[in-house]
Amino acid sequence: METLYMVLFFIYGIVFGSFFNVVGLRVPKKESIVLPSSQCTVCHRTLRAIDLIPIFSYLFLRGKCRGCQTKISPVYPLMEFITGILFALAYGMLGFSLELIVALLFISLLVIITVSDIAYMLIPNKILFPFAIVLVILRIIVPLSPWWSSIVGAIVGFGVLFVIALLSKGGMGGGDVKLFFVIGLVLGPIQTLLTLFLASLIGTFVGLIILKKTRKGRKTPIPFGPSIAVAALIVYFWGALIVDWYGKLFV
Ligand SMILES: [Zn+2]
Repeated sequence: METLYMVLFFIYGIVFGSFFNVVGLRVPKKESIVLPSSQCTVCHRTLRAIDLIPIFSYLFLRGKCRGCQTKISPVYPLMEFITGILFALAYGMLGFSLELIVALLFISLLVIITVSDIAYMLIPNKILFPFAIVLVILRIIVPLSPWWSSIVGAIVGFGVLFVIALLSKGGMGGGDVKLFFVIGLVLGPIQTLLTLFLASLIGTFVGLIILKKTRKGRKTPIPFGPSIAVAALIVYFWGALIVDWYGKLFV
């Protein structure tokens, strides 16, 4: 039974992941997320249902548009697959609980901002604010322990990132600062700082790889959102373990 539910959550995940791609790509451009139906960006061929099956359409079409053979970015099926894995993981670790709703929303937010930050270097308020409001309400219903951890977490997350943004003079965007408010709310102060630490490690690593591959100058801006998203999810699922392990090092 558990396995069946895991598979179901994986399928929900890839279907929602497909929708998150659309949200992440269209909301920053102020386009409707319902109409018009998806088109190839090159030949403007309208995609039919058969072209829109998560992951499978990409594999079936071998990553090319049916009309003009333009390559489709592997980011889309990858985000669908990752969302599927994360939804299944969330169910596997939390079961049917109220915290599962928090987890699914947190994953959804992080997937959407990853898509829009990769595409446009932007984490739009239109995406952040609705999620922030719902997550505030959820953290009242499903509080952290102690209950005020969310408030302190949000203040710490926003405050520390705000100072970094001021010092870095544009190196860190306002979207990252607001995102850390939401992360603090969900994770509490200690895990939020852990997220920042991990995100910096991942960001540096990714930055070095991109610099090496593209051979562009060091001034090339690299979106920090995806690194934050990966770090936040690692900490959401395994943060307590990491903090525990770190604590034992000094006993
Ligand atoms: Zn095309």
